[in-house]
Amino acid sequence: MSKKNPFRGKDKKSKTGTPARGGEKRRRRLPSAIATVTAAVRVLTDEAGTAARSARRTRGLRRHGRLETLPPDARALCDLAYEGLQPELLADYHVHVAGVGTSPTGAFVHPRAHSMRDPRRFVRFAVFRRAYGITDDARADEQFLSRLLDCAKWYPSPPRHGLLAFDRFHRPDGSPDLANTELYVPNGYVFRLAADNPRLFAPVISVHPQRPDALEALEHWHAAGGRIVKWLPNVMGINPASPSCDPFYEMMRKLGLSLLSHGGTEHALETDDSLQYLGNPQRLERALSHGVKVIVAHCASLGRMPDLKQRTKKPVPCFDLFMNMMDDPQWEGLLFGEISGLVQANRGERPLRTIMERTDLHERLVNGSDYPIPALRLTIIPRRLARQGFIDTKQRRGLEAIRAVNPLLFDLVLKRTVRHPETGAQLPARIFYEHPDLPLATKSIGESIVENAG
Ligand SMILES: [Zn+2]
Repeated sequence: MSKKNPFRGKDKKSKTGTPARGGEKRRRRLPSAIATVTAAVRVLTDEAGTAARSARRTRGLRRHGRLETLPPDARALCDLAYEGLQPELLADYHVHVAGVGTSPTGAFVHPRAHSMRDPRRFVRFAVFRRAYGITDDARADEQFLSRLLDCAKWYPSPPRHGLLAFDRFHRPDGSPDLANTELYVPNGYVFRLAADNPRLFAPVISVHPQRPDALEALEHWHAAGGRIVKWLPNVMGINPASPSCDPFYEMMRKLGLSLLSHGGTEHALETDDSLQYLGNPQRLERALSHGVKVIVAHCASLGRMPDLKQRTKKPVPCFDLFMNMMDDPQWEGLLFGEISGLVQANRGERPLRTIMERTDLHERLVNGSDYPIPALRLTIIPRRLARQGFIDTKQRRGLEAIRAVNPLLFDLVLKRTVRHPETGAQLPARIFYEHPDLPLATKSIGESIVENAG
């Protein structure tokens, strides 16, 4: 299938401030593609082997009594991680679900993710397929779900996981653009999963603000029990600073919906470089100025972008832009951060250190795993965290053993284990709880669910 780009040859931004997707030249360069495949083979083999072993071990644990079969060091880490926690309050605000169409969920990934003709997408999806525990493509959706359920259940006491719907890329005229849609997870799918597993899952809405039915969709999924809306602007083609979002923000404020939006550059999903600017956290100030509560995913801890207020083109760390916003008194009570990503190797140690030191901001942070990212061994590297002084060698071994059976539990135990290298301070328990001002969803999911509706 050839990719059609409705914006090809146009400026990065249209006059209305609505994003336009850039060209695909970079992806088509053959040497780059060959290099990508070559480099990825080792990664893929490594991740695939790990994920397959992990899935096998999880099945083994199911037979043999779950966490009791972890090595003593790993069990001790779990016990320590839960010490002083109120387990019934635990929440994970950032869990991705996906589907490829082997069951009637309505979810899909970009068709080129299945084709070697697009090596970057193919390899990326292959890595995620393994991370999701998929070994049989004909039963991919079923295997994905069973692996997620296994992981979500197997904690000493499980958190409530926010399952993210993921809307399609939309053109400036509001029509869905499937050729540019990397991932689609309909709202109906996550609401159904949450209705079937209310103790484990809470549905998180995703609606593109340019959809002609955007306001009705917000009202519908709010009535069904959703309380948070998820965006990934760089991938969905959303400019949060566009005036065209104003009616959307007004409806969100009226309904009391909060926005969980990606901040910083995005590399986990295929993203055109010309759209990365949409991840500048400062663009979310437009939502804040409408009185919408905004949670910036990953505390915008990846990438550099220009400070839009300085009118200079010199890029600065997105994390600094986010922290400046957190320090701006006008956004107190409205702006929050979500900490998935801080333990990832590609962020360096500064964001994690800084967040641990800024105890004054801890009441404005929530936890997220960004599952399935914690399943990827080359993304979160305990050995490196040990070298940086956040954990010790014995903890590293215990954490690796936990990840081998349950990446979700690994993520929670890791963040409860890390200590500031100098002060020894740890992240406080309340970061891991559902925030009183940011409910994930109502406890029961309404009857107004429309199966597979977007
Ligand atoms: Zn994510």
